[in-house]
Amino acid sequence: MTGVTVRAPAKINLQLAVGPLRDDGYHDLVTVFQAVSLYDEVTAAIVDGPGEDVVGVSGEGADSVPAGPDNLALRAATALAQVAGLSPDPGRHLEITIRKRIPVAAGLAGGSGDAAAALVACNELWAGGFGPPQLAEIAARVGSDVAFALLGGTAVGRGRGEQLTPALAPATQYHWVLAFADGHLSTPEVYATLDRQRARAREQVPAEPGLDPALMSALRSGDARLVGRALSNDLQPAALSLFPALRKTLAAGLELGALGALVSGSGPTCVFLAASADRALDLAASLSGAGVCRSVARASGPVPGAAIVSAAR
Ligand code: ATP
Repeated sequence: MTGVTVRAPAKINLQLAVGPLRDDGYHDLVTVFQAVSLYDEVTAAIVDGPGEDVVGVSGEGADSVPAGPDNLALRAATALAQVAGLSPDPGRHLEITIRKRIPVAAGLAGGSGDAAAALVACNELWAGGFGPPQLAEIAARVGSDVAFALLGGTAVGRGRGEQLTPALAPATQYHWVLAFADGHLSTPEVYATLDRQRARAREQVPAEPGLDPALMSALRSGDARLVGRALSNDLQPAALSLFPALRKTLAAGLELGALGALVSGSGPTCVFLAASADRALDLAASLSGAGVCRSVARASGPVPGAAIVSAAR
């Protein structure tokens, strides 16, 4: 096998409940992830000739993605090689090519998706033979959202988001409109802002964040209206205070008839739930004309996690 191409979906969070700051600097989370049909594509290939493993990135936001060992796809490949006990071959190296459609630092876990795609691609390329549970374990070490990008669908995430349980729900497809912002938000900065806001308000944060029963029952019913009403994100006030223009984006989408609206993860992407594929098309066109975001995309979910699209010899 000389080259394997895998595509990985973006994620949105239908609920993101954040516990208090822990001593190790992390927060316990309860989140409901959904994988949506906006994909990055990652090709892993073995190339003859000595040298370091390399990453090439093209597409949406490619300039702000590290091309060296800090790239999450390469970190994932390195982690897999270690677990597989592979030692570097002086005559050959790994080349990872990433075609990005998921905007960078947008709250859509594009980097985690690339890491998941690299795990699937390299497992095939090197005939690693690892099954989903072993890959999920390696994924959790690379980053908190990587295991979900492998799994896909709709799932509840606990811990730092890596302890996953697939959500029991009918096969409803939800139609989303994604409004990409003109700017980025740093995930650690959004969490730090939330901690400061909570301290200032002397908010009593429950030690264990809880799953929202209204959202879970809405998902079981498959009723998009109920799901729209139950969307929630504890990080949203922090994201809005760092990026006030997002208030206008959210308000515009709701005025234009979205069933629900929220900032995805740590933002700044805003996501809107539409009642049907046609409504999503209308909403996307109107939002794009309203001048409240950089660009707009439509996506449906849930979709499967990282999967091979081609393998060449
Ligand atoms: P998070 O998963 O932390 O919530 P996000 O979804 O907002 O992040 P990502 O697009 O995953 O954003 O990027 C987060 C950071 O990871 C960026 O600052 C980027 O420089 C770095 N990064 C490393 N590798 C990649 C990659 N392959 N694609 C995108 N970003 C990457």
